Amino acid sequence: SLAYFNGNIIGIDDPVIPIDERGHQFGDGVYEVIRFYQGKPFMLKEHLDRLFMSAKAIKLEIGKEQEELEALMLELAGKSGLADADLYVQVTRGVAPRNHLFPKCPASLSITVKPARELSHQVRSEGVHIVLLPDERWQNCYIKSLNLLPNVLAKQEAFEQGCFESVLVRDGMITEGSSTNVFIVKEGKVQTRPLSRYILAGITRLAVKEITGEQGIPFIERAFRPEELLEADEVFLTSTTSEVLAVTAADGRQIGDGQPGPVTRRLYECFQQKIKAM
Ligand code: PLP
Repeated sequence: SLAYFNGNIIGIDDPVIPIDERGHQFGDGVYEVIRFYQGKPFMLKEHLDRLFMSAKAIKLEIGKEQEELEALMLELAGKSGLADADLYVQVTRGVAPRNHLFPKCPASLSITVKPARELSHQVRSEGVHIVLLPDERWQNCYIKSLNLLPNVLAKQEAFEQGCFESVLVRDGMITEGSSTNVFIVKEGKVQTRPLSRYILAGITRLAVKEITGEQGIPFIERAFRPEELLEADEVFLTSTTSEVLAVTAADGRQIGDGQPGPVTRRLYECFQQKIKAM
């Protein structure tokens, strides 16, 4: 593993964040997680675009050009010596005496590169269980902000109920998971919520959308109700670390025949092909 903070490569456990750091005190920042496969980043451009969009949305000046940050990330990933890695990049409003108002100081940049967190073969082949919970987050979930308390609480609640993920419901409609996008398959059609301020525009979601186009699988962007999820033929989640992951039960009720379905398995296979082809 390798870590970086404001110009210096540091030990992953080194104490380096000053007390008056705004990520630490306010969660005043944005982040990305990028997966490296065989030393190569997956959809890096899309992640960088989203990072800069998130920063702009909270009026945060990153202080580096996109190309500069990209070069730094690639350099650190190379230095880590890891082929399969998760790169975490975080930008905050910097170090200044605690005050809610924006400080006049440069942004802080933290990067870590760690061995990729792989799901177990059992989870991959059997799928996971989810719970449905109220979406208690703010109205700007399209921003990949450091403020993850509702997501953390929802993920912990899922864990305590023996589940892998919480799927969130706002105004009677599914939004997304605590750290994933959510899809249902009904009569061969893949459906997911359209992009809006209420969900994160997942990069893996985009990859799946592209794959459905290539494979001629119908892809419909529409909001759906919890009952539609419970009655779907298949349900799956997507994220950088989960890739395409089958859901086989929700709120204790079996989805379909309780096995990862054919469309989910096909999309997972195509996703693996996409990785190999890059
Ligand atoms: N939705 C939320 C709330 C997330 O935190 C994440 C990723 O961590 C996702 C969706 C999936 O996004 P991506 O596929 O870009 O990893």
